[in-house]
Amino acid sequence: MKTHARVVVIGGGVVGVSTLYHLALKGWTDAVLLERSELTAGSTWHAAGLLPLFNMSYTVGQLHKYSVDLYKRLPAETGQDVSFHVTGNLRLATCRERMDEYRKYCGTANTIGVPFQVIGPEQVRDLWPLIELGDGAATSKIIGALYHPDDGHIAPADLTMALRKGARARGAQIHEQTEVTAVTRTPSGEWHLTTSKGNILAEHVVCATGNYARQTGRMFGLNVPSIPVEHQYIVYDESPELKAYRRAGGRELAVLRESDQSYYLREERMGWILGPYEAGAPARFADGVPDWFGKSLFEGDLDRLLPHVEAAQRRVPSLANCGIKDIVNGPIAYTPDGSPLIGPAWGARNLWLNEGHSFGITAAGGSGWQLAEWIVEGEPGIDMLGVDPRRYGPYTGKRYVVQKNEETYRNVFVIHFPDEERADARPAKTSPVYDKLARMGAVFGQRYGWERANWFAPAGVPAEDKWSFRRSNYFEHVGNEALRVRQHVGVIDLTPFTKHEVSGPGAESWLDGLVANKVPTKIGRIALCHALTRRGGIRSEFTITKIAEQHFYVVSAGAAERYDSDYLQQTLPRDGSVTLQNVTMSRGVFVLAGPRSRDVLAKLVDAPLDNTAFPWLTGQLTEVGLATEVYLLRVNFVGALGWELHFPIQYAHHLFDALFAAGKEFNIGMAGMRAMESLRLEKSYRMWGSDLTPDYTPYEAGLDRFVRLNKGGFIGKEALEKQLAAGVPNRFVTFEVHGVKDADALGNEPLFDLKNNIIGRATAGYYGHALRKSLGLGYIKPEFAVVGSAIEIEILGERKRATVLIDSPYDPENRDLRA
Ligand SMILES: Cc1cc2nc3c(=O)[nH]c(=O)nc-3n(C[C@H](O)[C@H](O)[C@H](O)COP(=O)(O)OP(=O)(O)OC[C@H]3O[C@@H](n4cnc5c(N)ncnc54)[C@H](O)[C@@H]3O)c2cc1C
Repeated sequence: MKTHARVVVIGGGVVGVSTLYHLALKGWTDAVLLERSELTAGSTWHAAGLLPLFNMSYTVGQLHKYSVDLYKRLPAETGQDVSFHVTGNLRLATCRERMDEYRKYCGTANTIGVPFQVIGPEQVRDLWPLIELGDGAATSKIIGALYHPDDGHIAPADLTMALRKGARARGAQIHEQTEVTAVTRTPSGEWHLTTSKGNILAEHVVCATGNYARQTGRMFGLNVPSIPVEHQYIVYDESPELKAYRRAGGRELAVLRESDQSYYLREERMGWILGPYEAGAPARFADGVPDWFGKSLFEGDLDRLLPHVEAAQRRVPSLANCGIKDIVNGPIAYTPDGSPLIGPAWGARNLWLNEGHSFGITAAGGSGWQLAEWIVEGEPGIDMLGVDPRRYGPYTGKRYVVQKNEETYRNVFVIHFPDEERADARPAKTSPVYDKLARMGAVFGQRYGWERANWFAPAGVPAEDKWSFRRSNYFEHVGNEALRVRQHVGVIDLTPFTKHEVSGPGAESWLDGLVANKVPTKIGRIALCHALTRRGGIRSEFTITKIAEQHFYVVSAGAAERYDSDYLQQTLPRDGSVTLQNVTMSRGVFVLAGPRSRDVLAKLVDAPLDNTAFPWLTGQLTEVGLATEVYLLRVNFVGALGWELHFPIQYAHHLFDALFAAGKEFNIGMAGMRAMESLRLEKSYRMWGSDLTPDYTPYEAGLDRFVRLNKGGFIGKEALEKQLAAGVPNRFVTFEVHGVKDADALGNEPLFDLKNNIIGRATAGYYGHALRKSLGLGYIKPEFAVVGSAIEIEILGERKRATVLIDSPYDPENRDLRA
């Protein structure tokens, strides 16, 4: 074995080997893979080999698409067959909400170019003659289906071998029976790996260790939020009916998924493989995989499977004539949201994760492709926020991950409503006034472990969501909250915001080199600043306030705490000229917004609040009521006169009570996240993570006024200059959707011109309660980005007319803000 390599991949499952293959493909041939046992010895050997293109995530959908395309090419390239059966994939629907889900998915599929068909029951029978369509009594009636003609199933071990061949042909090396047992960092920043076959130094390390992710992470000091869950499938004997159908010339049947009964069924040697996602599957190996496990499996648990077996027999009656040959029960890696962890680890340079794969056969190609790009080029080619390992934070302790993973597993096939909020492992992280909000009728959701009030049920209204793809039970109440902010005054608890203090002689120049806007130079000024990728895409959004000389207060999205904190830490100058402190947990945030907000605040603050003394986009370090050291910032995300109060957390209760006492005469009330969504859409405020992502530059996002090309160097500047010279390919627009009865846009819907050509995609949408318009935000080709331009959008399968509006259609001159 070599003693030095540019990159070492730990783990020889399909994901690790694909990563090695793609690194070699990109020219990093000084690459070594170490496998403790033999290739495919982890979960890969016993996987069922299904390759579903279906995925509700924009990022994961693109990774799966790449994989399916790659796997079709691999045999010709490597000479190794991979047994890719392109059978197609049929997902049944037996209720309207399921059809809504498929139609919502179709929007995503359209925007990423995945072919699909939405079909009716008769076409289902044509494709799948052995099926029982159901009479609505003993067997529920199939009302439609989603059909992917291009995917199917593959032999996972053969796929791994093909990738292995491709990697080795380019010079990469693979060492089996070589376990990595310890890691240290050399003074020069290389990784020193101790293995069962000697030591190796590496510039970069990729962890792709499947079920071992947590123990591998521990070697590097990381708490990786991936713990496997038991997953079973049944292998059946030959089916006489299937045999007869095939002998008569029938083609291999599409992989069948009856989502409403939570199972998949595919052909296997004239018999079947049936795989349920059942309730009660336990998480395993939370403290690490024991040495004895090796290539073993768990005992099959038929009782857990039986409800799904019975459901499958109702749908495919001939299944009852087949004997069960085997039950395969193996560990399958999971994460709390079910998506993998692909990208840089946190807290260390040149350490990469490709872990937590529950659809790893499907995702291996795409994850290897993008991770290799990230390592070699310094950033990925597509928006990877949905799988970035730093989307989780320190809140993902063992018990949290166990509970969430078990929940995610049993919910694989539930309808993925856009407003779904799952219950397990909650509440965990709460704002100090959580109980007060609950007493006010708050219906909570969870983001980055935090409980956030989505809306408030008035007295007599049940404080619960009815999840839907359409307007639901909370619509009217959210509207009242939004209107209160527009007409009176509202409070929003935004304590989860990510907050950093940056100070020291180098603070200003360091921040200035990170962001495209000019960092404020005058004490008290606030600037909205964007950190870009080297390709010019939007990486992060920071609201930066100059609090004092050499002292800045930096606020960003709550869900970006680790993502932003890690980035700031990694880019900090090494000369000690800047001190960075994460104060997320020590400061709470209340937004006070609405035309009467000044009247409320005036009762609690001695200093004048008029426009001369306290103009828009300024901040002051002051006292509010009894609370001291409050950063009072005249900004907000709802487009109203208002202030954000960033206060030492111990004052949360005092300030909350004081605001409500002072605001009583002005009709003060709470507003939740959904009201905020409605309000910010009316102002065309772009949301980091959905509207602002690395896929788009600030010019595409219409944030030109936050870019200062003449201020000196910053990350992404060259790319922006190039884009300006070549022409900006997309423009961000706000549009009104016409003829909406009950389904607003939500994001990820395709946008069309009037000749049926796709011209862009929506990134967000909802109803603007003050404007009384169904609104959408999104990116379209520049020629259509003109006020008044007529376009179309497809919402849940229905084409709707839409009109491009002026940016910030509510109060475009910002009179409210500056009042
Ligand atoms: C029953 C079942 C059915 C499934 N069906 C499907 C399916 O149909 N489609 C699909 O897409 N996915 C399926 N999966 C999931 C799929 O198997 C996994 O997502 C995939 O195999 C993960 O691959 P991996 O390379 O990440 O992990 P693994 O295959 O587990 O590989 C990790 C490797 O790392 C090695 N390793 C660990 N620690 C070290 C160390 N310290 N040093 C060196 N080597 C180390 C291990 O020995 C192992 O070989 C299924 C899973 C199960 C359990």
